[in-house]
Amino acid sequence: MDASIVMDPRLLAVAQRTKGFMPDDEGLALHRAGRRAAGTGLGPLLEVGTYCGKSSVYLGAAAREEDSVLFTVDHHRGSEENQAGWEHHDTSLVDPETGRMDTLPTFRRTMVDSGLEDVVVAVLGDSATVAKYWTTPLSLLFIDGGHGSEPAWADYRAWVPLVAIGGRLAIHDVFPDPADGGRPPFELYSRALESGSFLEEEACGSLRVLIRTAEGE
Ligand code: SAH
Ligand code: MG
Repeated sequence: MDASIVMDPRLLAVAQRTKGFMPDDEGLALHRAGRRAAGTGLGPLLEVGTYCGKSSVYLGAAAREEDSVLFTVDHHRGSEENQAGWEHHDTSLVDPETGRMDTLPTFRRTMVDSGLEDVVVAVLGDSATVAKYWTTPLSLLFIDGGHGSEPAWADYRAWVPLVAIGGRLAIHDVFPDPADGGRPPFELYSRALESGSFLEEEACGSLRVLIRTAEGE
């Protein structure tokens, strides 16, 4: 889909060398969705779950190319699955002074490397708390924050109503087969489709991109 949308190779190289959880093909699909969304002029792009800024480079490139911006929301303390003892823990992302995860310095370096500092706006805090005070409609919402049931549904309830009609809802780590990964992202995706307010536009790996066709979710 959209073979005509090509990502700046220099930004692609930065995205590829940035730590994170976004395979190349899914990142490129996200970039294309970001381009289509930002091109509508319906509003900015917003990502929940920045981590070290890997997906932010894909979406930030799209925002740059369409003269839009990306807001990226994270408390930078890591999800449950990033904490010590869990599968996705990375000791190099622990602040030695506090002993807590801190991905903010790495994210900042990614933004300097990519030259996207003027296009990608970091929002530091709890996602649902930010959403509570957020009113600007979004041309694209990308949900990739906490993957447990509670944080994932909190993001859905808080942010999905802000997707404009004609805007995109992208969800990462959607695994129809439970053997491949956790359930909550798949449940969010299923709920969005069953609500009748969204239609599927694209699927790539565990990335799903939906378009809002009606209010109501
Ligand atoms: N999109 C990233 C991966 C995100 S990992 C990539 O491309 O690599 C999930 C991120 O969600 C973590 O950085 C974690 O700190 C953040 N997160 C989890 N729960 C959150 C919450 N309630 N509020 C804000 N950020 C949260
Ligand atoms: Mg993910």
